[in-house]
Amino acid sequence: MILRDFRDRGLALKASKEIGDMASTLGKVKIMHVCGTHEDTITRFGIRSLLPENVEVISGPGCPVCVTTNREIDEAISLAQKGITVTTFGDMLRVPGSRSSLADSKADGNDVRIVYSVTDAVEIAHKNPEKEVAHIAIGFETTIPSNAVALQDAPENFSILCCHRLIPPAMELLLESHEVRIDGFIDPGHVSAIIGVKPYRPLAEKYRIPHVIVGFEPLDVLFSIIMLLEMIKNHECEVRNEYSRVVKEEGNQKALSIMDAVFEPCDVDWRGFPVIPRSGLMLRERFAEHDARERFELRVEPTEDLRGCRCSDVLKGLIYPRECPLFGKACTPKKPVGPCMVSAEGACSIMYRHTS
Ligand code: SF4
Repeated sequence: MILRDFRDRGLALKASKEIGDMASTLGKVKIMHVCGTHEDTITRFGIRSLLPENVEVISGPGCPVCVTTNREIDEAISLAQKGITVTTFGDMLRVPGSRSSLADSKADGNDVRIVYSVTDAVEIAHKNPEKEVAHIAIGFETTIPSNAVALQDAPENFSILCCHRLIPPAMELLLESHEVRIDGFIDPGHVSAIIGVKPYRPLAEKYRIPHVIVGFEPLDVLFSIIMLLEMIKNHECEVRNEYSRVVKEEGNQKALSIMDAVFEPCDVDWRGFPVIPRSGLMLRERFAEHDARERFELRVEPTEDLRGCRCSDVLKGLIYPRECPLFGKACTPKKPVGPCMVSAEGACSIMYRHTS
């Protein structure tokens, strides 16, 4: 199949009919995905409109900017206020912390710069040896390897504020908490290209939930729903790989070993979630001098989420963005209240862009 075929309307309608036929033998089915790119495909191509009433696909904590906490934004602002050059991806600039954002800090005259990759940030540090440069390192398993590579050869005046997070522990917390019903998981294709198939197996076995690793075209998603319904119907709890054109059983061993050389797991809270064991990363002792938290003695207390913003519920799959009373009224991409409306990968921003 060539890429164009993954958007074939006729095949999509056939898949939709097959989903309808299979679902007619089942009760209510709730499937969760944990990836902003999947949410974009699902909303942009109207996948939910092709599903029968008893099959629901909900969005979980799949946007790295959105799960970053107020405390981490406040830490980044505190770095800028200390006179340190702070580099960040554009999406992070407008995410509100407890009182303000990095954009406000930049407007106040602090040195906050947008970069397109960590390499750009390291380059700034190389060119300005008299300055301290701290990069806000966000992202899941997909982006962690590039930061790990950059740190192996970083100049002495370069550090990171590590805000990385790992996806499987968050999936486990969702299953453990029973706050939201989940009958099957659409596993993230990009993350799985790094970690492979194996990390999902203990979850599938322990919680008796089927998983399918899925690509990003509309037919990838529809095929994965068929695969999940088939497993649900047959009471099978396996991990199947719909995205085998990219994801290999063992993942990307080189990327995993670079990650492991630089980072070690730690417990961390996510926006909307309590502290999730081993879901974050910290720098190993050998790289401690590049840890901005230690280097600049950041001591920032956690704070409550903004009043009225329901990003926490959106990230846990408890509500759809439109169920937030602020959606499209007080909160729009031009004037976002919460991070889910700021980031291009946020469920609220995706819903607003494609359906408003
Ligand atoms: S619509 Fe805005 S305020 Fe409501 S959950 Fe989404 S980002 Fe938060």
